[in-house]
Amino acid sequence: MKASVDPNLCIGCTQCTGICPEVFSMDGTLAVAIPGEIPPEDVPQAVNAAQACPVGAIQTDA
Ligand code: SF4
Repeated sequence: MKASVDPNLCIGCTQCTGICPEVFSMDGTLAVAIPGEIPPEDVPQAVNAAQACPVGAIQTDA
C-alpha cells in the first residue's frame, strides 16, 4: 500500500503524524507520507491515520 497527502486539503493538524509517525511526518505546516510502499507492519496504523484525518486529505492505494 502507498499513501499520499493532498497538500490542498491538509490543514496541518498533525493528527496523522501522531497516529503513524512511521509513515507521516510534518514538512513545515503540511503532512507528507513516505514515498513508495509502506512496510506491511505499518499499514494498519497508516490506515488508521488516513481514517482519522479530519479533512480526508490522505489517499491510500493497495
Ligand atoms: S491528519 Fe490530515 S489534515 Fe491533519 S496533518 Fe495529517 S493529512 Fe494533514
